[in-house]
Amino acid sequence: MDSTIRQRVQTAADAAAVIDMHTHLYAPAFGASDPRMQGAGTPLLLWGIDELLGYHYFVDEVFRAARLRSPNDALDPRSFWTMSLRDRADLIWRELFVERPPVSEACVGLIDILVSLGLDPDERDLSRYRKWFSERDLEAHIDEVMHLAGVRRIVMTNEPFAQVERAKWLADPRALRDSRFAPVLRIDPIVEQWPEACRTLAGWGYEVQPDLSGQTVSEVRRFIDEWIERTDPVYLACSLSPGFRHDSESEDPAVRSFTSLFDTCLVGAARDHGLALALMIGARRSVHPEMGLAGDSLGPTDNAQLESIAHAHPDVTFLITLLSRENQHELCVTARKFANVVPFGCWWYLNTTSQITEITRMRLELLGTDFVPQHSDARVLEQLIYKWRQSRRIIAACVAERYDASQTAGARIDDRAIDRDMQRLFSANFEAAVNRAFPAN
Ligand SMILES: [Zn+2]
Repeated sequence: MDSTIRQRVQTAADAAAVIDMHTHLYAPAFGASDPRMQGAGTPLLLWGIDELLGYHYFVDEVFRAARLRSPNDALDPRSFWTMSLRDRADLIWRELFVERPPVSEACVGLIDILVSLGLDPDERDLSRYRKWFSERDLEAHIDEVMHLAGVRRIVMTNEPFAQVERAKWLADPRALRDSRFAPVLRIDPIVEQWPEACRTLAGWGYEVQPDLSGQTVSEVRRFIDEWIERTDPVYLACSLSPGFRHDSESEDPAVRSFTSLFDTCLVGAARDHGLALALMIGARRSVHPEMGLAGDSLGPTDNAQLESIAHAHPDVTFLITLLSRENQHELCVTARKFANVVPFGCWWYLNTTSQITEITRMRLELLGTDFVPQHSDARVLEQLIYKWRQSRRIIAACVAERYDASQTAGARIDDRAIDRDMQRLFSANFEAAVNRAFPAN
């Protein structure tokens, strides 16, 4: 490969400020965890060493490590979850970082975070890290983390069906505004857990029936419209299980009700409010229930269902991310057939060096630069640092490969074109998909 092209692309990627289009981070006004009172209350913005180590990526890893190290004294999920966050963090640090070198993607990521923040990653216990985080000013810390990650906007995931969050929005939406964070309205309980969502909506005073009779559909729309008004979201979001079916003529009444609510309420609201609809598909929930948040697995979905949705609603933009590796090639083909489909991100079990590389190469080969290559899905603030440093490096390397092929074929690629492509991949493609500009703060 032309040795300069790789460096030129990396330089342009490093300079491109990211819009992180999907995270589980919140503005501090929603309530933040306190590193001095680990695990207390129900904070929405998580940060600090104990929250980082308590992340569910480490929970499944520590069960394996502990069992293989002492098979007769295996860790029991029930007793694990009765431990305090602080004790769980101590255990995870000992098993995954002290007893062995950190190797997995999540472990290497944590080392990257510590070093980026100026900490020594070789501590035997967590006391120095805890002291360091407890002395941080949260506002300044958020700014520093965003600077280190090269992120200029953090897109949240706001859930009106989550009681703690709902109460914050009902109390004072204006107090939640923070120019670093952008809201998104996620409403999947309406289609994914309709019977339960129906009971909840009825409890809040909406005239809804489990069989969708009477005013149900218009009342669900009223609920969504009110929450769009309240939150002013960047887009609507819906997480779907891999087995979802979109078919208005299905013999299965559950499929018919899903399709009706999906088309009329979710897509209808997106269309009428000029919003894109993001679909995140592929998590199989609670395959190991005792593991709690770490108990979810994944499964492939049927891309024909997506094509049916995209075909039925050509005037709505669908941002789509799929969790199963097996779906990625088909998704690129679906996006070639339907210009209103914008593939995005490599999340959770796909947010690894090998998977980001494979998927980004495939997307560049089949879609050029017309997609959104990554989102962090971060649940703990400092994860932004390693996830974006790593993704930037990999995406830049993949783009450089394509430029190299293009130059070999005879094209000339100048630095301005490289800059423009990096802007597109890290922010402008998303801004175009949601039809909104996010000026620098
Ligand atoms: Zn997510």
